[in-house]
Amino acid sequence: STTLDATALKADFPLLASHDGLVYLDSAATSQKPQAVIDAEVGFLTSANAAVHRGAHTLAAEATVLFEEARETVAGFVRAAPEQLVWTSGATAGLNLVAYSLGNASLGRGAPASARFALRPGDELVVTETEHHANLIPWQELAARTGAVLRHIPVRDDGTLDLDGAAEIIGARTRVVAFPHVSNVLGIVNPVAALVALARDAGALTVLDACQSAPHVPLDLPALDVDLAVFSGHKMLGPYAIGGLYGRGDVLEALPPFLTGGSMITTVTLDEAEYLPPPQRFEAGTQPVSQAIGLAAAVRYLDGIGMDAVHAHETALEQRMRAGLREIPGIRLLGDADGAERVALCAFEVDGVHAHDAGQFLDARGIAVRVGHHCAQPLHRRFGMTASVRASAALYNSASDVDAFLDAVSGIRSFFGVAR
Ligand code: PMP
Repeated sequence: STTLDATALKADFPLLASHDGLVYLDSAATSQKPQAVIDAEVGFLTSANAAVHRGAHTLAAEATVLFEEARETVAGFVRAAPEQLVWTSGATAGLNLVAYSLGNASLGRGAPASARFALRPGDELVVTETEHHANLIPWQELAARTGAVLRHIPVRDDGTLDLDGAAEIIGARTRVVAFPHVSNVLGIVNPVAALVALARDAGALTVLDACQSAPHVPLDLPALDVDLAVFSGHKMLGPYAIGGLYGRGDVLEALPPFLTGGSMITTVTLDEAEYLPPPQRFEAGTQPVSQAIGLAAAVRYLDGIGMDAVHAHETALEQRMRAGLREIPGIRLLGDADGAERVALCAFEVDGVHAHDAGQFLDARGIAVRVGHHCAQPLHRRFGMTASVRASAALYNSASDVDAFLDAVSGIRSFFGVAR
Protein backbone atom coordinates (compact mmCIF):
# COMPACT_ATOMS: atom_id res chain seq x y z
CA SER A 1 0.00 0.00 0.00
CA THR A 2 1.19 3.50 -0.73
CA THR A 3 0.54 6.77 1.01
CA LEU A 4 0.07 8.96 -2.08
CA ASP A 5 -2.70 8.84 -4.63
CA ALA A 6 -0.46 8.83 -7.69
CA THR A 7 -3.39 8.59 -10.07
CA ALA A 8 -4.73 11.86 -8.71
CA LEU A 9 -1.25 13.42 -8.82
CA LYS A 10 -0.98 12.64 -12.53
CA ALA A 11 -3.64 15.30 -13.13
CA ASP A 12 -1.08 17.92 -11.99
CA PHE A 13 1.30 16.89 -14.78
CA PRO A 14 -0.09 17.97 -18.15
CA LEU A 15 2.07 15.58 -20.14
CA LEU A 16 0.94 12.58 -18.09
CA ALA A 17 -2.68 13.75 -18.12
CA SER A 18 -2.63 14.06 -21.92
CA HIS A 19 -0.85 10.77 -22.64
CA ASP A 20 -3.46 8.29 -21.59
CA GLY A 21 -1.96 4.90 -20.86
CA LEU A 22 1.64 6.11 -20.86
CA VAL A 23 3.71 4.36 -18.20
CA TYR A 24 6.55 6.82 -17.72
CA LEU A 25 9.43 5.08 -15.98
CA ASP A 26 12.29 7.29 -17.09
CA SER A 27 12.30 9.92 -14.37
CA ALA A 28 15.96 9.31 -13.52
CA ALA A 29 16.76 10.73 -16.97
CA THR A 30 14.32 13.59 -16.65
CA SER A 31 11.14 14.11 -14.67
CA GLN A 32 7.80 15.36 -15.90
CA LYS A 33 6.80 18.89 -14.86
CA PRO A 34 3.72 19.87 -12.91
CA GLN A 35 1.54 22.70 -14.22
CA ALA A 36 2.67 24.81 -11.25
CA VAL A 37 6.24 24.83 -12.61
CA ILE A 38 5.16 25.70 -16.13
CA ASP A 39 2.89 28.45 -14.76
CA ALA A 40 5.67 29.89 -12.58
CA GLU A 41 8.08 30.14 -15.47
CA VAL A 42 5.54 31.49 -17.93
CA GLY A 43 4.18 33.83 -15.26
CA PHE A 44 7.58 35.34 -14.67
CA LEU A 45 8.25 35.76 -18.38
CA THR A 46 4.85 37.31 -19.05
CA SER A 47 4.58 39.63 -16.07
CA ALA A 48 7.86 40.18 -14.25
CA ASN A 49 10.72 39.68 -16.69
CA ALA A 50 13.67 42.06 -16.36
CA ALA A 51 17.42 41.91 -15.79
CA VAL A 52 18.15 41.02 -12.18
CA HIS A 53 20.76 42.71 -9.95
CA ARG A 54 20.93 45.60 -12.40
CA GLY A 55 18.84 48.44 -13.62
CA ALA A 56 17.24 51.17 -11.59
CA HIS A 57 13.71 50.48 -12.72
CA THR A 58 10.85 48.97 -10.74
CA LEU A 59 10.53 45.85 -12.86
CA ALA A 60 14.21 45.01 -12.42
CA ALA A 61 13.86 45.37 -8.67
CA GLU A 62 10.79 43.09 -8.67
CA ALA A 63 12.56 40.49 -10.81
CA THR A 64 15.54 40.59 -8.45
CA VAL A 65 13.28 39.96 -5.46
CA LEU A 66 11.63 36.99 -7.19
CA PHE A 67 14.99 35.58 -8.24
CA GLU A 68 16.45 35.85 -4.73
CA GLU A 69 13.26 34.44 -3.20
CA ALA A 70 13.69 31.44 -5.52
CA ARG A 71 17.20 30.98 -4.17
CA GLU A 72 15.87 31.06 -0.62
CA THR A 73 13.16 28.51 -1.46
CA VAL A 74 15.48 26.07 -3.24
CA ALA A 75 18.18 26.45 -0.58
CA GLY A 76 15.52 25.77 2.06
CA PHE A 77 14.55 22.56 0.26
CA VAL A 78 18.02 21.17 1.04
CA ARG A 79 18.10 22.94 4.46
CA ALA A 80 20.79 25.36 3.33
CA ALA A 81 21.10 29.13 3.70
CA PRO A 82 20.54 31.18 0.52
CA GLU A 83 24.19 32.25 0.33
CA GLN A 84 25.18 28.57 0.29
CA LEU A 85 23.35 28.00 -3.01
CA VAL A 86 24.98 28.83 -6.33
CA TRP A 87 22.84 28.59 -9.46
CA THR A 88 24.29 26.46 -12.21
CA SER A 89 22.87 25.15 -15.46
CA GLY A 90 22.75 21.62 -14.03
CA ALA A 91 24.71 19.04 -12.13
CA THR A 92 27.27 18.66 -14.89
CA ALA A 93 27.92 22.40 -14.78
CA GLY A 94 28.16 22.32 -10.97
CA LEU A 95 30.70 19.50 -10.92
CA ASN A 96 32.79 21.17 -13.62
CA LEU A 97 32.61 24.42 -11.67
CA VAL A 98 34.10 22.70 -8.64
CA ALA A 99 36.81 20.88 -10.59
CA TYR A 100 37.85 24.00 -12.50
CA SER A 101 37.81 26.11 -9.31
CA LEU A 102 40.16 23.64 -7.67
CA GLY A 103 42.33 23.81 -10.77
CA ASN A 104 42.44 27.60 -10.46
CA ALA A 105 43.45 27.26 -6.81
CA SER A 106 46.23 24.98 -8.01
CA LEU A 107 47.39 27.70 -10.40
CA GLY A 108 47.47 30.18 -7.53
CA ARG A 109 44.57 32.18 -8.94
CA GLY A 110 41.71 33.52 -6.90
CA ALA A 111 41.32 34.30 -3.21
CA PRO A 112 44.45 33.87 -1.05
CA ALA A 113 42.50 31.44 1.13
CA SER A 114 42.22 29.15 -1.87
CA ALA A 115 45.81 27.95 -1.35
CA ARG A 116 44.36 25.29 0.94
CA PHE A 117 42.77 23.70 -2.13
CA ALA A 118 45.87 23.74 -4.33
CA LEU A 119 46.68 20.33 -5.79
CA ARG A 120 50.20 19.08 -6.29
CA PRO A 121 51.49 16.17 -8.33
CA GLY A 122 50.86 12.97 -6.40
CA ASP A 123 47.85 14.35 -4.52
CA GLU A 124 44.89 12.03 -4.87
CA LEU A 125 41.33 12.56 -6.05
CA VAL A 126 38.94 9.77 -5.11
CA VAL A 127 35.69 8.88 -6.87
CA THR A 128 33.70 5.63 -6.95
CA GLU A 129 33.39 2.96 -9.59
CA THR A 130 29.69 3.84 -9.83
CA GLU A 131 29.99 7.41 -11.12
CA HIS A 132 27.88 9.06 -13.74
CA HIS A 133 30.37 10.42 -16.29
CA ALA A 134 29.53 13.92 -15.00
CA ASN A 135 31.22 13.08 -11.69
CA LEU A 136 34.15 11.30 -13.31
CA ILE A 137 35.46 13.11 -16.37
CA PRO A 138 35.86 16.54 -14.69
CA TRP A 139 38.11 14.80 -12.12
CA GLN A 140 40.06 13.00 -14.85
CA GLU A 141 40.68 16.36 -16.48
CA LEU A 142 41.62 17.99 -13.17
CA ALA A 143 44.10 15.19 -12.50
CA ALA A 144 45.58 15.67 -15.97
CA ARG A 145 45.95 19.43 -15.41
CA THR A 146 47.53 19.21 -11.96
CA GLY A 147 49.42 15.92 -11.84
CA ALA A 148 47.03 14.61 -9.20
CA VAL A 149 46.20 10.91 -9.28
CA LEU A 150 42.61 9.71 -9.73
CA ARG A 151 41.62 6.67 -7.66
CA HIS A 152 38.32 4.91 -7.18
CA ILE A 153 36.39 3.16 -4.45
CA PRO A 154 35.28 -0.23 -5.78
CA VAL A 155 31.68 -1.40 -5.86
CA ARG A 156 30.79 -4.89 -4.65
CA ASP A 157 28.84 -7.40 -6.73
CA ASP A 158 25.68 -6.53 -4.79
CA GLY A 159 25.96 -2.84 -5.73
CA THR A 160 27.07 -1.53 -2.35
CA LEU A 161 30.30 0.44 -2.07
CA ASP A 162 33.27 -1.41 -0.64
CA LEU A 163 33.85 0.62 2.53
CA ASP A 164 36.90 -1.45 3.51
CA GLY A 165 38.33 -0.58 0.13
CA ALA A 166 37.39 3.05 0.73
CA ALA A 167 39.24 3.04 4.05
CA GLU A 168 42.36 1.77 2.30
CA ILE A 169 42.14 4.24 -0.57
CA ILE A 170 41.27 7.40 1.36
CA GLY A 171 44.35 8.54 3.24
CA ALA A 172 46.97 11.22 3.79
CA ARG A 173 47.34 11.98 0.08
CA THR A 174 43.59 12.29 -0.56
CA ARG A 175 42.44 15.84 -1.30
CA VAL A 176 38.96 15.26 -2.74
CA VAL A 177 36.38 12.50 -2.27
CA ALA A 178 33.54 12.79 -4.79
CA PHE A 179 30.67 10.30 -4.81
CA PRO A 180 27.00 9.94 -5.66
CA HIS A 181 24.35 10.05 -2.96
CA VAL A 182 22.47 7.58 -5.15
CA SER A 183 23.92 6.01 -8.29
CA ASN A 184 21.76 6.54 -11.37
CA VAL A 185 22.15 2.84 -12.24
CA LEU A 186 22.09 1.06 -8.88
CA GLY A 187 19.55 3.20 -7.02
CA ILE A 188 21.19 2.42 -3.68
CA VAL A 189 21.52 5.24 -1.15
CA ASN A 190 25.22 5.37 -0.33
CA PRO A 191 26.57 5.62 3.24
CA VAL A 192 27.34 9.34 3.17
CA ALA A 193 28.29 9.57 6.86
CA ALA A 194 30.89 6.80 6.61
CA LEU A 195 32.49 8.31 3.51
CA VAL A 196 32.45 11.82 4.96
CA ALA A 197 34.11 10.51 8.15
CA LEU A 198 36.91 8.89 6.13
CA ALA A 199 37.37 12.05 4.08
CA ARG A 200 37.37 14.30 7.16
CA ASP A 201 40.02 12.16 8.84
CA ALA A 202 42.14 12.55 5.74
CA GLY A 203 41.49 16.31 5.56
CA ALA A 204 39.91 15.88 2.13
CA LEU A 205 37.11 17.88 0.56
CA THR A 206 33.83 16.00 -0.02
CA VAL A 207 31.69 16.49 -3.13
CA LEU A 208 28.26 14.86 -3.25
CA ASP A 209 26.35 14.23 -6.47
CA ALA A 210 22.79 14.47 -5.20
CA CYS A 211 21.07 14.35 -8.62
CA GLN A 212 19.29 11.09 -7.95
CA SER A 213 18.42 11.71 -4.31
CA ALA A 214 17.08 15.28 -4.38
CA PRO A 215 13.74 14.34 -6.05
CA HIS A 216 13.18 11.27 -3.88
CA VAL A 217 14.44 11.54 -0.30
CA PRO A 218 14.30 14.36 2.26
CA LEU A 219 17.63 16.08 1.83
CA ASP A 220 19.47 17.97 4.57
CA LEU A 221 22.84 18.84 3.05
CA PRO A 222 24.31 20.59 6.12
CA ALA A 223 23.38 17.55 8.23
CA LEU A 224 25.08 15.25 5.72
CA ASP A 225 28.15 17.37 6.46
CA VAL A 226 29.47 17.33 2.89
CA ASP A 227 31.54 20.29 1.74
CA LEU A 228 29.93 20.63 -1.68
CA ALA A 229 26.93 19.07 -3.39
CA VAL A 230 25.16 19.37 -6.73
CA PHE A 231 21.65 18.67 -7.96
CA SER A 232 19.81 19.08 -11.21
CA GLY A 233 16.50 20.93 -11.67
CA HIS A 234 15.08 18.92 -14.55
CA LYS A 235 15.26 15.67 -12.57
CA MET A 236 13.27 17.16 -9.67
CA LEU A 237 10.18 18.39 -11.52
CA GLY A 238 11.87 21.66 -12.45
CA PRO A 239 12.93 23.28 -15.72
CA TYR A 240 15.97 22.42 -17.84
CA ALA A 241 19.19 24.39 -17.63
CA ILE A 242 18.98 25.03 -13.90
CA GLY A 243 20.72 23.31 -11.04
CA GLY A 244 22.23 24.01 -7.68
CA LEU A 245 25.69 23.89 -6.22
CA TYR A 246 25.57 23.82 -2.44
CA GLY A 247 28.69 24.66 -0.47
CA ARG A 248 29.57 25.02 3.19
CA GLY A 249 30.14 28.70 3.90
CA ASP A 250 33.87 28.47 4.59
CA VAL A 251 34.45 26.30 1.52
CA LEU A 252 32.60 28.57 -0.90
CA GLU A 253 34.34 31.58 0.71
CA ALA A 254 37.75 30.14 -0.08
CA LEU A 255 37.08 28.67 -3.54
CA PRO A 256 38.26 30.74 -6.49
CA PRO A 257 35.81 31.34 -9.32
CA PHE A 258 35.56 29.24 -12.46
CA LEU A 259 33.68 31.43 -14.95
CA THR A 260 34.53 35.11 -14.76
CA GLY A 261 32.91 38.19 -16.22
CA GLY A 262 29.98 40.41 -15.40
CA SER A 263 27.92 40.24 -12.20
CA MET A 264 30.59 38.52 -10.10
CA ILE A 265 32.87 41.48 -9.40
CA THR A 266 33.22 44.54 -7.20
CA THR A 267 35.97 46.61 -8.83
CA VAL A 268 37.53 45.99 -12.23
CA THR A 269 40.53 47.70 -13.79
CA LEU A 270 42.11 46.86 -17.11
CA ASP A 271 44.64 44.75 -15.23
CA GLU A 272 42.68 43.00 -12.50
CA ALA A 273 39.38 42.43 -10.77
CA GLU A 274 38.04 41.94 -7.28
CA TYR A 275 35.37 39.35 -6.83
CA LEU A 276 32.10 39.37 -4.94
CA PRO A 277 31.58 36.91 -2.10
CA PRO A 278 29.67 33.68 -2.81
CA PRO A 279 27.22 32.89 -4.26
CA GLN A 280 27.66 35.75 -6.78
CA ARG A 281 31.36 34.98 -7.22
CA PHE A 282 30.30 31.80 -8.99
CA GLU A 283 27.50 33.35 -11.04
CA ALA A 284 29.22 35.18 -13.87
CA GLY A 285 27.01 36.43 -16.64
CA THR A 286 23.24 36.48 -17.01
CA GLN A 287 21.66 33.81 -14.88
CA PRO A 288 18.85 31.32 -15.66
CA VAL A 289 16.28 33.51 -13.93
CA SER A 290 12.95 32.11 -15.13
CA GLN A 291 14.34 28.59 -14.65
CA ALA A 292 15.29 29.39 -11.05
CA ILE A 293 11.75 30.61 -10.44
CA GLY A 294 10.43 27.42 -12.05
CA LEU A 295 12.66 25.30 -9.84
CA ALA A 296 11.40 27.12 -6.76
CA ALA A 297 7.86 26.18 -7.83
CA ALA A 298 9.00 22.57 -8.25
CA VAL A 299 10.40 22.29 -4.74
CA ARG A 300 7.32 24.03 -3.33
CA TYR A 301 5.25 21.37 -5.09
CA LEU A 302 7.42 18.59 -3.61
CA ASP A 303 7.32 20.17 -0.15
CA GLY A 304 3.57 20.60 -0.48
CA ILE A 305 3.25 16.84 -0.77
CA GLY A 306 6.03 16.29 1.74
CA MET A 307 9.29 14.53 0.97
CA ASP A 308 8.60 11.93 3.66
CA ALA A 309 5.37 10.98 1.86
CA VAL A 310 7.15 11.02 -1.51
CA HIS A 311 9.86 8.74 -0.13
CA ALA A 312 7.37 6.33 1.47
CA HIS A 313 5.34 6.12 -1.74
CA GLU A 314 8.40 5.53 -3.89
CA THR A 315 9.83 2.96 -1.47
CA ALA A 316 6.65 0.92 -1.89
CA LEU A 317 6.99 1.21 -5.69
CA GLU A 318 10.63 0.16 -5.48
CA GLN A 319 9.85 -2.92 -3.44
CA ARG A 320 7.05 -3.92 -5.78
CA MET A 321 9.25 -3.44 -8.83
CA ARG A 322 12.28 -5.27 -7.45
CA ALA A 323 10.28 -8.16 -6.04
CA GLY A 324 8.48 -8.52 -9.37
CA LEU A 325 11.67 -8.40 -11.42
CA ARG A 326 13.33 -10.99 -9.18
CA GLU A 327 10.55 -13.41 -10.02
CA ILE A 328 10.86 -13.08 -13.80
CA PRO A 329 13.18 -15.75 -15.27
CA GLY A 330 16.19 -14.42 -17.19
CA ILE A 331 16.30 -11.01 -15.51
CA ARG A 332 19.60 -10.01 -13.94
CA LEU A 333 19.38 -6.96 -11.72
CA LEU A 334 22.45 -4.76 -11.32
CA GLY A 335 23.40 -4.35 -7.68
CA ASP A 336 20.63 -6.41 -6.12
CA ALA A 337 21.75 -6.10 -2.47
CA ASP A 338 19.17 -7.23 0.06
CA GLY A 339 17.99 -4.68 2.57
CA ALA A 340 19.71 -1.69 0.99
CA GLU A 341 18.07 1.71 1.28
CA ARG A 342 17.03 2.67 -2.24
CA VAL A 343 15.16 4.94 -4.56
CA ALA A 344 12.66 3.48 -7.04
CA LEU A 345 15.11 2.64 -9.78
CA CYS A 346 15.98 -0.79 -11.18
CA ALA A 347 18.54 -1.48 -13.90
CA PHE A 348 18.69 -4.95 -15.36
CA GLU A 349 19.76 -7.17 -18.18
CA VAL A 350 17.41 -9.53 -20.00
CA ASP A 351 19.21 -12.78 -20.72
CA GLY A 352 19.56 -13.24 -24.47
CA VAL A 353 17.93 -9.92 -25.43
CA HIS A 354 19.81 -6.71 -26.13
CA ALA A 355 18.76 -3.80 -23.90
CA HIS A 356 17.74 -1.75 -26.95
CA ASP A 357 15.43 -4.51 -28.20
CA ALA A 358 13.91 -4.82 -24.74
CA GLY A 359 13.41 -1.04 -24.63
CA GLN A 360 11.64 -1.05 -28.00
CA PHE A 361 9.45 -3.95 -26.94
CA LEU A 362 8.41 -2.01 -23.81
CA ASP A 363 7.89 1.21 -25.77
CA ALA A 364 5.51 -0.58 -28.12
CA ARG A 365 3.45 -1.36 -25.00
CA GLY A 366 3.40 2.24 -23.81
CA ILE A 367 6.19 1.85 -21.28
CA ALA A 368 9.00 4.41 -21.35
CA VAL A 369 12.30 3.21 -19.90
CA ARG A 370 15.90 4.09 -20.60
CA VAL A 371 18.33 1.72 -22.26
CA GLY A 372 22.08 1.95 -22.73
CA HIS A 373 24.95 2.68 -20.37
CA HIS A 374 23.18 5.60 -18.67
CA CYS A 375 26.41 7.64 -18.73
CA ALA A 376 28.05 5.05 -16.47
CA GLN A 377 30.28 2.98 -18.74
CA PRO A 378 32.84 1.96 -16.08
CA LEU A 379 30.05 0.64 -13.86
CA HIS A 380 28.54 -1.42 -16.68
CA ARG A 381 31.99 -2.75 -17.54
CA ARG A 382 32.45 -3.72 -13.88
CA PHE A 383 29.29 -5.81 -14.13
CA GLY A 384 30.40 -7.36 -17.41
CA MET A 385 27.92 -5.60 -19.65
CA THR A 386 27.74 -2.72 -22.08
CA ALA A 387 24.09 -1.78 -21.67
CA SER A 388 21.12 -2.30 -19.38
CA VAL A 389 17.43 -1.48 -19.18
CA ARG A 390 16.58 1.05 -16.47
CA ALA A 391 13.12 1.68 -15.04
CA SER A 392 12.92 4.65 -12.70
CA ALA A 393 9.82 5.91 -10.94
CA ALA A 394 8.80 9.19 -9.38
CA LEU A 395 6.00 10.38 -7.13
CA TYR A 396 3.49 10.38 -10.01
CA ASN A 397 3.88 6.65 -10.70
CA SER A 398 1.31 4.25 -9.31
CA ALA A 399 1.42 0.59 -8.35
CA SER A 400 -0.52 -0.15 -11.53
CA ASP A 401 2.27 1.50 -13.57
CA VAL A 402 4.70 -0.92 -11.95
CA ASP A 403 2.38 -3.87 -12.57
CA ALA A 404 1.98 -2.95 -16.27
CA PHE A 405 5.77 -2.72 -16.53
CA LEU A 406 6.31 -6.10 -14.83
CA ASP A 407 3.68 -7.75 -16.98
CA ALA A 408 5.38 -6.46 -20.13
CA VAL A 409 8.88 -7.43 -18.94
CA SER A 410 7.72 -10.96 -18.30
CA GLY A 411 6.86 -11.26 -22.00
CA ILE A 412 10.19 -10.05 -23.41
CA ARG A 413 12.11 -13.30 -23.64
CA SER A 414 9.33 -15.35 -25.19
CA PHE A 415 8.72 -12.58 -27.74
CA PHE A 416 12.36 -12.73 -28.80
CA GLY A 417 12.34 -16.52 -28.74
CA VAL A 418 14.93 -16.94 -26.00
CA ALA A 419 12.74 -18.27 -23.17
CA ARG A 420 13.14 -21.95 -22.56
N1 PMP B 1 24.92 12.75 -11.90
C1 PMP B 1 23.96 11.81 -11.93
C2 PMP B 1 23.96 10.73 -10.88
C3 PMP B 1 22.98 11.85 -12.90
O1 PMP B 1 22.03 10.92 -12.92
C4 PMP B 1 23.00 12.91 -13.86
C5 PMP B 1 21.96 12.98 -14.96
N2 PMP B 1 21.83 11.80 -15.73
C6 PMP B 1 24.01 13.85 -13.79
C7 PMP B 1 24.94 13.74 -12.79
C8 PMP B 1 24.10 14.99 -14.76
O2 PMP B 1 23.01 15.85 -14.64
P1 PMP B 1 22.74 16.94 -15.77
O3 PMP B 1 22.79 16.23 -17.09
O4 PMP B 1 21.40 17.43 -15.46
O5 PMP B 1 23.80 17.96 -15.68
